[in-house]
Amino acid sequence: MKTLGHWIGGKHTEAASGAFGPVFDPATGDRRAQLGLADEAEVDAAVAAASSAYPEWSRSSVTRRTSFLFAYRELLAAHREELAALVTAEHGKVHSDALGELARGIEVVELACNAPELLKGELTTEASGGIDVASLRRPLGVVAGITPFNFPAMVPLWMFPLALACGNTFVLKPSEKDPSASLRLAELAAEAGLPDGVLNVVNGDRTAVERLLDHPDVAAVSFVGSTPIARQVQSRAVAHGKRVQALGGAKNHLVVLPDADLDAAADAAVSAGYGSAGERCMAVSAVVAVGQAGDALVERVAERARALRVGPGTDPSSQMGPLITAEHREKVASYVTGAAGQGAEVVVDGTEFSVPGHENGFFLGASLLDRVPPQADAYRDEIFGPVLSVVRADTFDEALSLVNASPWGNGAAVFTRDGGAARRFQLEVEAGMVGVNVPIPVPVAHHSFGGWKDSLFGDLHIYGKDGVRFYTRGKVVTTRWPDPAAAGGVDLGFPRSS
Ligand code: NAD
Repeated sequence: MKTLGHWIGGKHTEAASGAFGPVFDPATGDRRAQLGLADEAEVDAAVAAASSAYPEWSRSSVTRRTSFLFAYRELLAAHREELAALVTAEHGKVHSDALGELARGIEVVELACNAPELLKGELTTEASGGIDVASLRRPLGVVAGITPFNFPAMVPLWMFPLALACGNTFVLKPSEKDPSASLRLAELAAEAGLPDGVLNVVNGDRTAVERLLDHPDVAAVSFVGSTPIARQVQSRAVAHGKRVQALGGAKNHLVVLPDADLDAAADAAVSAGYGSAGERCMAVSAVVAVGQAGDALVERVAERARALRVGPGTDPSSQMGPLITAEHREKVASYVTGAAGQGAEVVVDGTEFSVPGHENGFFLGASLLDRVPPQADAYRDEIFGPVLSVVRADTFDEALSLVNASPWGNGAAVFTRDGGAARRFQLEVEAGMVGVNVPIPVPVAHHSFGGWKDSLFGDLHIYGKDGVRFYTRGKVVTTRWPDPAAAGGVDLGFPRSS
């Protein structure tokens, strides 16, 4: 079996700790590799490589950094099929979905290519008599990125291209469940001309993460993962004086008003609920059907859910692939089997599903629950699987209150033809990303991505302008020229503008 290690200082580095974790092919249930789980010494080696690359990279011209990013963008585009195949092999999502993830990741590299504009400072000439004031953005140092299993290429690409464009060096700790895409992204970065040590990949689990959070030479941490871990990561990194953005889990609601186009709403609910087997942080997990929309909508969603083609991600006819692990599959199934006992109606039950020839794969069919009480586990928890819960509400106000009572606030969407209701929803819903007749409102790269409440710990969202602010710190330079000696004698008064 293949053994995967790390990428440190511009080359593959064998795993040294002696601890390994399995990497599965979720479509067959077979182990495809074993992954070295870094100990503290291996994390320290990656941080040391990033620290020694930092002085030269941070002083390199923006033109130099941008020319790397342009070359990298071209290489990623040329290798998108291969990268998508790696994502499918370890995550399980269907190939077309993996290509979509690549496209959204490449978008952030394209944004980073705009570094000369993004990093441009501000200058006030003659801010006071003979005084000019410039505001600059400077890099932070070594930045760590810790990423989840569900977007093994896109989420790393949300982070390091922009961090590098800003002049930082980077240590990426990918998910231990599907690490190969990250290792390939690092190889391609080297091929595009990135100097050794500027981007490092250290594989591992909690031990590696905690060492990064505690390491004195790590200046900032971008984390994306589940809410409990995001919360822990933020508090530990902040306790060590680091800047941190920790994006957490979600329970995204799609509110359907009675005036909506119900076929379009059903298409959206099924696409956003079951796409990537529901393993998306912006998946629709709860549909709130308002008033008369309920029965007609459930009928339409059920019809579509039953017709979904579930199978290996490598089969072009599959619309939905397997779940990430056997344990996760069992956990997701338990929400469906337990739903009836908690007052929900099981309209479509995907728990007994298996794919002929792939009986050991981690597959589940699509499940649909109706009239789910807000106290039921299926409504309260982030299931992260192909289970859509419909909750009934009598009025728009009741629906909005339900969404706003959720502890999470990643994405929320409304389907309606009523502009006034849509406008109220945009302004009053407590979520960081809002869709109006758009079910998965993942912002394009030149805007920023981030949730509210338990979906994000930290102040700044990821990528876009917030990303540039996160990966830089401000510096203000006040200049008097010519020679200050010509400006007058000693004056102990506090400087005033004149
Ligand atoms: P996870 O929290 O289990 O793991 C995320 C990362 O944290 C991984 O690199 C993992 O190795 C590490 N980790 C796991 N346990 C740890 C611990 N105890 N201490 C320190 N580090 C630890 O998340 P996951 O299962 O890989 O990903 C799915 C979750 O990520 C879902 O909750 C999903 O909503 C969320 N997610 C959120 C966003 C977003 O943008 N808000 C995007 C993608 C995924």
